[in-house]
Amino acid sequence: MIANMKKIYTSPDRLMVFHAKNVLASYNINCVIKNEFVGGAAGELPFNECWPELWIDNEKKYEKAIKILDNIWFSGEQTQPTWTCTRCDEKLEGQFTACWRCGESRYR
Ligand SMILES: [Zn+2]
Repeated sequence: MIANMKKIYTSPDRLMVFHAKNVLASYNINCVIKNEFVGGAAGELPFNECWPELWIDNEKKYEKAIKILDNIWFSGEQTQPTWTCTRCDEKLEGQFTACWRCGESRYR
């Protein structure tokens, strides 16, 4: 039906795949989820072929979508390193995006 679909993300965790779809939808990037309900066939397929997959239907938006997904995984709590405020040298935990002391943004 659609020729240029690309797989953009897969995870054993359905919620993560749905989360990715929702985030991309908020950027006007439409995706479809495949393998959403294949759990029952697990015995007959290699394990990772049973994972839900997120497919993008517009090749031109693929690069942008990858970047958006990188950002949302990067902003997950566990993957964030601690950082030092460039303005006041306060040491900050990774989950903060701005300095609690002086308000400086981490990304400036
Ligand atoms: Zn600061």
